[in-house]
Amino acid sequence: MSDILDPKPDESPMRWDLDAIFPGGSRSEVYRDFLRDLERDVRAFAERLSRDEPSLAELVESWEDLAARLREAAAFAECLTAQDVHDAEATALSLWVREIAAKFEAALADVDRILLAADEAAFRAFLEDPAGGEARRAIAPVLEERRRRAAQKLPPEQERLVAALGADGYHGWHAVYAEVAGRIRIEVEHDGCRETLSVAQAQNRLEDPERAVRERVFAAYERAWDSLAHVGAQILNHLAGYRLTLYRLRGWDDFLREPLEMNRLTRPTLEAMWAAVEAEKPTLVRYLKAKADLLGLEALAWYDVDAPVLRRPSAEEQKVPYAEARRTIVRNFSAVDPEWGALALRAFREGWIEAEDRPGKRAGGFCTSFPITGVSRIFLTYGGTKGSFATLAHELGHAYHQWVVRHLPVLAQGYPMSLAETASTFAEIVVQDRLLEEAAAEERLSLLDDVLRRAVAYFMNLHARFLFEVEFYARRREGFVPREELDRLMEAAQRRAYRESLSSYHPLFWFSKLHFYLTDVPFYNFPYTFGYLFAHLLHHTYLEAPASFADRYRDLLRDSGRLPVETIAQKHLGLDLTDEGVWRRAARHAVRHVEAFLQEARK
Ligand SMILES: [Zn+2]
Repeated sequence: MSDILDPKPDESPMRWDLDAIFPGGSRSEVYRDFLRDLERDVRAFAERLSRDEPSLAELVESWEDLAARLREAAAFAECLTAQDVHDAEATALSLWVREIAAKFEAALADVDRILLAADEAAFRAFLEDPAGGEARRAIAPVLEERRRRAAQKLPPEQERLVAALGADGYHGWHAVYAEVAGRIRIEVEHDGCRETLSVAQAQNRLEDPERAVRERVFAAYERAWDSLAHVGAQILNHLAGYRLTLYRLRGWDDFLREPLEMNRLTRPTLEAMWAAVEAEKPTLVRYLKAKADLLGLEALAWYDVDAPVLRRPSAEEQKVPYAEARRTIVRNFSAVDPEWGALALRAFREGWIEAEDRPGKRAGGFCTSFPITGVSRIFLTYGGTKGSFATLAHELGHAYHQWVVRHLPVLAQGYPMSLAETASTFAEIVVQDRLLEEAAAEERLSLLDDVLRRAVAYFMNLHARFLFEVEFYARRREGFVPREELDRLMEAAQRRAYRESLSSYHPLFWFSKLHFYLTDVPFYNFPYTFGYLFAHLLHHTYLEAPASFADRYRDLLRDSGRLPVETIAQKHLGLDLTDEGVWRRAARHAVRHVEAFLQEARK
């Protein structure tokens, strides 16, 4: 392990190696050939399905093969466009991949038809056929789920019509929102100077240390959204109306049914989770009060929640050099699970990570995986801040998740949103504790604040979004919900979620938050809180029994793309997720640093 503690600089390249996957970057002929073959085979697949009825074995074999190649292709295109946003060849390639993906998606309607056409006995016999081997067993629950869901929808022909009309109907509303939101400009006036900000710029200013700046920018921010709120109300109502009509036609009376199914969760689990969050909120309210005190306020306003708390406002943040980040990550991952540490080390050494700070790269971070090559690639811009350090750990958590499932068929690797962030959040928690231990005295307060701000986001902000949507959907079923009513519902949801602890709220949040307008995923809020708390539950389990953790963790991740979440927790952790007590443990663990913050704040 000595090389981990003393890495040679050349052993941690800051640029990734894409040539190992397809040589030649965006000019790669090998990649173009790969896409041409894939496109031809997808077309043949679609034609065959529309013409005749292949056997289930043939169907699954082609489906699996094409799904794997498509993911391999899409991952490479994503890496190319991220590393250089000005690479026109890369953009063209990614559009090409998207076209192939759309054709494949359309063909899946026929897959549903064929799955439904098989009678129960034949379907069972296929799933249980020993000739299908390990792979068949792995995908059996996924196929069963797909068949069950298809049976609960409209007949395949009608669903095809719905999907076709949805492109310009349902999804069109999302596009209109993006267009409208893109036009929002925030006009800020200060000392006679006028300044025009984009939404993203204004949001950054809400983290300004000066309260007067935050207050002024937030007032202008609300004015800007207000000016188009009547349009926003139309969009939101039509989008929800579309969804509700489709649910009604399918005979579904619960609007949470689809989001719960997509996350492989049941309602009792969701209710137990929110009840536990509610129960632990008083601890977070104490944190919010202490933070208000530090800022010299009676209570925090909406725009103060993300304000920085700095001991010495001028102090430069302590930077973490890349080699040191590598050392800390590998050492701490290894302590939890030696295989995880080894994988992280491999990622650093073998060019899996694009971390260089240079112009022309896309913002943000991601981890993408190549199911055929069996490797992953991580993208970020490592600036040495605590934030980029956390991102690096986060993405290496994703990479491990992917590594653990790499031998499974691709069809058994599709984990739901509720579990997608488990390994990454878990990785962040592991290194975050180390950062807190090692932090210099003047850094501790703001590090604790970072950790607790996140808890506020998952416990309160996301809860407000959930409460709002539940109320809004219930009313939308009765008719159009006017703009004033949306404001009122949102403020009421925020007051409840934040336990009336703030001095002002953001009633137009229903308009300013993109997540309410996503059409791929309904109720894009509770899965965040679920993932966050589930990762804390894992960390709590690890601390209680570190010796037996690694094996359980890997087994759990391996099942994440194929089984319902409750089954996974029961099978690998022995936990009943419908039990509020289990979630209480997770929630308490997530807010365990509040005491330390209060102590630090008193200094
Ligand atoms: Zn992530």
